[in-house]
Amino acid sequence: MKGSIKIGRILGIPIYINYTWLFVFAFITYMLAVDVFPSDERNFSQLTYWLLGICTSLLFFASLLLHELAHSFVCLKNGIPVKSITLFIFGGVARIAKEAEKPSLEFLMAAAGPFASIALSAIFGSIWWFTRGVYDPLSSMTGYLAIINLGLAIFNLVPGYPLDGGRIFRSIVWLITGDHQKATRIASQTGKAIGYLFIAGGVFIIVRYNMWEGLWIAFVGWFLTMAAAGTSRQATIKQSLGGIKAGDVMVSDYISISSVLTLKQVHVYIAHTGKLFFLVTDHERLLGSISVENFARVPQQEWDSTTVGQIMTPVNDMQLLNTEDDALGILEKMDEVDDNRMVVVDGHNGILGLITRDSLLRFALSRRQMAT
Ligand SMILES: [Zn+2]
Repeated sequence: MKGSIKIGRILGIPIYINYTWLFVFAFITYMLAVDVFPSDERNFSQLTYWLLGICTSLLFFASLLLHELAHSFVCLKNGIPVKSITLFIFGGVARIAKEAEKPSLEFLMAAAGPFASIALSAIFGSIWWFTRGVYDPLSSMTGYLAIINLGLAIFNLVPGYPLDGGRIFRSIVWLITGDHQKATRIASQTGKAIGYLFIAGGVFIIVRYNMWEGLWIAFVGWFLTMAAAGTSRQATIKQSLGGIKAGDVMVSDYISISSVLTLKQVHVYIAHTGKLFFLVTDHERLLGSISVENFARVPQQEWDSTTVGQIMTPVNDMQLLNTEDDALGILEKMDEVDDNRMVVVDGHNGILGLITRDSLLRFALSRRQMAT
């Protein structure tokens, strides 16, 4: 996600915070310190209210993270890599490299998050119960966190795909029908319908009661319809790529260069061709590849004295394909290793063609247009 900063690693998964989350953090802290906690009329000092606001926001942040970690934990346990967790304005999102292969696993992956939020709500709720009247600042804070975690669980259980509840719904339809694509279609249609219900409900509230709450509900509804449309588009792409092999989609519009060229010479190529990626070859045999990312690691004053061979990604570190690899698997692999270009080779590293994410998506799109 754009505009995110990395804050650390848990279970080997990089954790990011999107800048939108910082606004939420500031807003929640302010709201708690100035409005929510003082309305308890317990007459704590200003400083206590602000400290409570900050602690509660931080624990809310930790709760969101634990929700995502619960999803991730089930994935990792079942051999599905998790690429990252990002916290942003609507909560958190864990990026997983591929989808579950069985409905039962999808059910567990989806249910783990809301389960964690309910468990957190129970833990905060019991601390609230035992500290009531004994230590009021702590009980105010934990009482609020119990409610907000319960709210988080309930919202996520709304059966609108791609929310957790929608994924649970899809896994059940998948189990009943035995058809993953049909289940995805039904779940994303339901997701869209629920999004429209939220929008309609929001508009109704704006008209009848309170402007801001209605606007917020309608906004969430809009977000849900967009997300559902996005996932159904993804499902269509996957459907279109079924049965397609690397040999069918590879393209030949790549440029091969020699490893003895200097970076300065390659820079001229870039300026003339607009290409940002080159294959390094010796008599049609692949030696490696070089892209602007490799370039960025070398200071410009050294471009004259550095050769392509010195900084290229060597062939052994590249993901190579053969003509029989299936297209859908390639797309998933690209997501998994975060690489948008892969080279198709024969048994002796002779180049047969190039596959890019763009070429895969364009192929899927044109195939779909032909079908309709
Ligand atoms: Zn979740």
